[in-house]
Amino acid sequence: MNALNMLLSAFPEPISGELIASTLKLSRTAVWKQMQSLQKLGLQIEGKQNSGYRLLSWPDLLLPELIQHYRSGQLGQDVFWHESIPSTNTTAKELARQGAAHGTLVVTEEQTAGRGRRGRAWTSAKSSGIFASLILRPDLPTRRVPMLTLAAGVAVVEALQSIGLSDAWLKWPNDVWVGRRKLAGILSELSGELDQVDFVVIGMGINTHQMELPDELANTATSFYRETGRKPNRAELLARILLELEKVLPLLESTDPAPLLAAWQKHDRLLGKSVNVIETNGSYTGTAVGLSPTGSLRIALADGSERLVLAGDVSLRPLA
Ligand code: ATP
Repeated sequence: MNALNMLLSAFPEPISGELIASTLKLSRTAVWKQMQSLQKLGLQIEGKQNSGYRLLSWPDLLLPELIQHYRSGQLGQDVFWHESIPSTNTTAKELARQGAAHGTLVVTEEQTAGRGRRGRAWTSAKSSGIFASLILRPDLPTRRVPMLTLAAGVAVVEALQSIGLSDAWLKWPNDVWVGRRKLAGILSELSGELDQVDFVVIGMGINTHQMELPDELANTATSFYRETGRKPNRAELLARILLELEKVLPLLESTDPAPLLAAWQKHDRLLGKSVNVIETNGSYTGTAVGLSPTGSLRIALADGSERLVLAGDVSLRPLA
């Protein structure tokens, strides 16, 4: 419990300085100082002699208290907020190695070295998106972690759709797209033995607020704002993602992959499309025909045979 929790739980009513001071075992001056630091972060707080402090509004930050305000469910019970760090996945992995619990979340307003697959960079300008990593300790063999990545994708898309981005879709294996542009990426990293995962870190980079994107992404990326004309409340969106993830995680407990694959397939717009596949040993063209029971992408080739893509790069062929 801290002063911001108390202001939020009283919101929109005021709360007396005396009550905050006695609950938090602080002096009235210490409470006043806390209000000042919250105001510096952009929270609007009205202080009146007889009624106390009233929270009027808060900025769109990913502060733990704000995430907690919107959150329900089990995931995200501990949130570590940073103003700027190299990568939320790196920080989350360190915390996980130190024993952080299942459901711990790391968030930052900015990443200075955000990563995608195979060491590619993820552009993460200040407060322009959601940069978050969730620590999970699932009871899973390592070979099933790709299914967890798929589940995370389903959660992100469902959450985006629930706040109005109805066109968001999943591009295998780890991207959320709108039309022919990328809006979000998911990067799962794991630690464990072959037969049992110790922890998985699910990193999410979601473009929410950008109107302009860096030149190199201008033709390939988009944001929630560009698509809808609205800047979503990032703390609320993140809380929704956690809740959606909580709904799909139980699908992994069963060894039957069908329900999770069905949840994924609902959002799979590669299905039936002509795609280019680039793998380490060459590239080829085919038609995406859905996922295998282990979550690989099935490609139908012109000669009638089928190939499975485990980790290649798949791109939609240009529209004719
Ligand atoms: P691709 O999208 O080319 O298939 P990928 O799925 O492997 O690649 P990721 O590893 O998830 O991609 O993300 C890294 C790539 O995403 C970068 O190489 C860059 O092209 C693109 N990218 C980087 N930052 C952003 C961003 N903020 N929004 C959209 N795309 C980005």
